[in-house]
Amino acid sequence: LRRKTGNALFLKEYNRRRILSFVREHKSISGIMLSKLSGLAPKSVYEICDGLIQDGYLYEASIGSSGGGRKPVMLSLRPDYYYSIGIDIDVGMVRAVLMDITSTVKFELNERVDGINYEVYLGLMVKLIKTLYKRNKTDASKLLGVGLSVPGLIDIDSKKLIMAPNLKWENKDLINDLKQHLSCNIFVENEAMSSAFCEKWLGECKNDKDFICINIKSGIGAGIYTCGKPYRGARGSAGEIGHIPLSENGPLCGCKNRGCLETLASTNALLTNAKSAFEKEITLDGLIALAQGKNKAAEEIFNNAAQYLGLAISFLVNTYNPSKIILGKDFTKYAKFELDVIIDKVNGTALKHNASAVRIQPSSFGERASVLGAAILPQIQIF
Ligand SMILES: [Zn+2]
Repeated sequence: LRRKTGNALFLKEYNRRRILSFVREHKSISGIMLSKLSGLAPKSVYEICDGLIQDGYLYEASIGSSGGGRKPVMLSLRPDYYYSIGIDIDVGMVRAVLMDITSTVKFELNERVDGINYEVYLGLMVKLIKTLYKRNKTDASKLLGVGLSVPGLIDIDSKKLIMAPNLKWENKDLINDLKQHLSCNIFVENEAMSSAFCEKWLGECKNDKDFICINIKSGIGAGIYTCGKPYRGARGSAGEIGHIPLSENGPLCGCKNRGCLETLASTNALLTNAKSAFEKEITLDGLIALAQGKNKAAEEIFNNAAQYLGLAISFLVNTYNPSKIILGKDFTKYAKFELDVIIDKVNGTALKHNASAVRIQPSSFGERASVLGAAILPQIQIF
């Protein structure tokens, strides 16, 4: 009997989530349409929807059109009620957003940080989360949780941060350390995978099952989706494409190898190459301005990086056969100097059959994809 009850509960929860997902996808949908999509009897759909309305997830948004007869009631996700908070940790910067379950960002905060001290970042995260929470003026029971996007390797079982090379953090239990200050659910994800969640949930890849988001900034990482699901690998560290070795005698990498992709094509690599070409420190904005003014050396720096990126992307295109590759973070600021070179390289290097299936484009979210993805992490649990 107990087993039967367990199955019934599971089925009820499963159907609730399916209904919620259909409403999310359609934004506004009738009970009849939900019944058609879910294959559930109208009576069951109305029961589930009643429960979801009572719990505050749905509301009767508007009266739909109908070909004569009674007009159907349209259901939508209820805004300004359940919400989540997303935090994106980056070298020198912590971003935070508060997002309701309609994916509307209600508040957003960015704060610069000096140095890489773990305790300083932790304190700032707690401060930003509490500030957003107070601004929202909605009680804690409506907070679905906090999602963290981290530029490093997360262990698939323990959820501990194994290492974040550019922050020089190792073996940090972010979830546990934050729980000393906060009493909500906390989720953690690699930042490139967070960006992939954002593109799948809100962006260009809603209808793609196989796609790859590549974040290019101080390092390079990828969030990979295959068969409609995140691909994590055996220990959760798939997607470390920044360490694809491309040049045997290339620059020394943080991973102790030589000539990894990120030593050749990350933003740090661009700035290192700019420093040696111009014999002085140049900021990314400075380098972009020079390329904008058709400075040959600056154009060459972007062109070289793009050649390497194109080569690495060819491997991915041949291996995963994705329908889209989204290039995000800093790349979105200088895409116009690299994108065509990358596409030409992929078309010239990858298998024709695979290259013709893929669209390569910059992210429309700029630097925000991973913080939005972080806010999505707690929300995924209810859909
Ligand atoms: Zn490396």
